[in-house]
Amino acid sequence: MPVCTKCNIDKPREEFHRKRKGSVAIRSTCKDCTNRDNRRWFYENREKRAYSINNWKERNRDKVRGYWKGFHQRNREYRNKIKLEHKRKNIDAYNRNTKRWKKGQGPEYNSWCAMWTRCTNERSDQYKNYGGRGIIVCEDWKSFKNFVRDVGRRPGPTYSIDRIDNNGNYEPGNVRWATPEQQANNTRVNRLIEINGECRTISEWCRVLNSKVSKETIRQRLKKGWAPIDAITTKTHIVVQDYCI
Ligand SMILES: [Zn+2]
Repeated sequence: MPVCTKCNIDKPREEFHRKRKGSVAIRSTCKDCTNRDNRRWFYENREKRAYSINNWKERNRDKVRGYWKGFHQRNREYRNKIKLEHKRKNIDAYNRNTKRWKKGQGPEYNSWCAMWTRCTNERSDQYKNYGGRGIIVCEDWKSFKNFVRDVGRRPGPTYSIDRIDNNGNYEPGNVRWATPEQQANNTRVNRLIEINGECRTISEWCRVLNSKVSKETIRQRLKKGWAPIDAITTKTHIVVQDYCI
C-alpha cells in the first residue's frame, strides 16, 4: 500500500492519480490532496492566469492574425471558384448574404440571348439572315420571364428554337421548340413537293411513305421529269434471290 506524502496515510492504489497514461507509476500524493491543492492554486492565482493567457496572445498576435487572414483568403477563393462554376453551368446557386437560392437561368436563357443578338447586333455573323432580312423580336420578350412564359421550358437537350413561319418575326404563336430534323425541314432552302394536294419536303415524304431511296437519287429523278410519287417510291435496284447455275 503506497503512502501519501501530504497526509501520510496508507491508501489503496485506486486513491492515487496515475502519473501518465499507460504508465505503472503513480503520484506520490493521493487524489484528495492533489485535487485540493490544484483547486487552491486555481482560485488564488486568478490574476496570474489571466496575465499568462493575455501575454501569450500579445506575443503571438501576428501569428494568430496571419492564420485567420489566410483562412479567410482561402475561403474567399474557394467560394469564388464555386460561384464561377455555377455561373458557367447555369446551376442554381445559394447566396449566403441574402440566404436564398438563386434560380439558374438554364439553356432557355442562352437561346433567348442568341435570338436577340441574331436580330439586333449588326456585328453578329448571322445578322444578315435575321436582322438584315427585317426579322425582329417582339417588344414583350425584352424580359426573359415573358419569353419562358410564352414558349415554355426546353423539352430536351437536342431541341432548339424555331420559327413556324420562316418569314415571320419572333413573337408568341410563331416560335416553338423543334428537333434538328424539324429545323432542317423548315429552312428557306428546302423545296416542297406536292402529292395529293399535300406539300412536304423530300425527307418528310420519305418517312411518311417509308421509302429507302436516297434523297440524292430522288432529286435527280425529279430533275429528269419523273412524277413525284414514282420518284420517291420506285426501288433503285432489284435484289435477285433465286438464280440458276
Ligand atoms: Zn493525501
